[in-house]
Amino acid sequence: MHVGYGRLSAAESRPIEIKPLFHYWPNSTALTFSGWGCNFYCPWCQNYPLSFRHPRPDDPVVEPEVLVREALRAGDEGLCASFNEPATLFDYLVEVFSLGRRYGLYATIVTNAYFTLKAVDVLVSEAGVDGWSIDIKGCPGMKGKGILPAIDHSVVFRNARRIIDLGGHVEMVHLVVTGANDDPECFEWIIDQHISNLGHQVPLHINRYYPAHRWHKPPTPIGKLLEWREKARRAGIEFVYVGNVGDPELESTRCPRCGKLLIRREGYRVTYYNLDCSNGRCRCPRCGYPIPLRGTYIAGKSIPSR
Ligand code: SF4
Repeated sequence: MHVGYGRLSAAESRPIEIKPLFHYWPNSTALTFSGWGCNFYCPWCQNYPLSFRHPRPDDPVVEPEVLVREALRAGDEGLCASFNEPATLFDYLVEVFSLGRRYGLYATIVTNAYFTLKAVDVLVSEAGVDGWSIDIKGCPGMKGKGILPAIDHSVVFRNARRIIDLGGHVEMVHLVVTGANDDPECFEWIIDQHISNLGHQVPLHINRYYPAHRWHKPPTPIGKLLEWREKARRAGIEFVYVGNVGDPELESTRCPRCGKLLIRREGYRVTYYNLDCSNGRCRCPRCGYPIPLRGTYIAGKSIPSR
């Protein structure tokens, strides 16, 4: 058992849309928990007070049973490991998610996905983690700038492919960090990897960065986010969202074929939902185009008070 086992930095009910996971149990909430530390060192880390602090032996341990009981008490549909990098809690994740599955709770993770294939297999096949929000930190071109030089970014796409092959649901996130991973070549590499490894129906979230920790460059220009959204769509990615901007239209799901509004989101809640779903498959109610969606829409659920 590692020193961080069960030593949590946070645990609270949060909307699934905030992860972001837009095609997974829409409008549900997940008891979201985090530990301490990270296997990366991103200088723009928004969660640096958690990610750059080590767990301490005198931090109390929250047993998996306690966490699962709290999710059930709060009326959450699932569990989510987030905020810092969940890889730091690996054996704890396996226990928490396996137990949660026995009580009907879904299992999700917000991660940089820098795992071995064996670790991915264990999380998906043994622990039942089937919702993955994967943050692509950048591209090989960042090495020349001395940013995350030890990271092989293609590992992230390799692992995303493996998760899908094992039956998991994946959504990719690209936080466009000014001066780090915001050059066109970087974005083209990401689109190319996305299409060739994951295909056209895996959602891509292009998110706005704001200064944090040791990175003080200005926030991503909204024009750049919109331009890249168009590029990604033209390249064939069917579900492209722009996040951290606060525009519901940019976070809405429309049918890629006929343009019909299918899901509208405002403030991380679903305010409109219109899909034809049966036998685990969903379609546009107007033209019948297949729309990827895992789980069930939870109608009328508000954001839990914090
Ligand atoms: S991978 Fe995520 S949690 Fe870790 S340092 Fe980077 S931004 Fe922070």
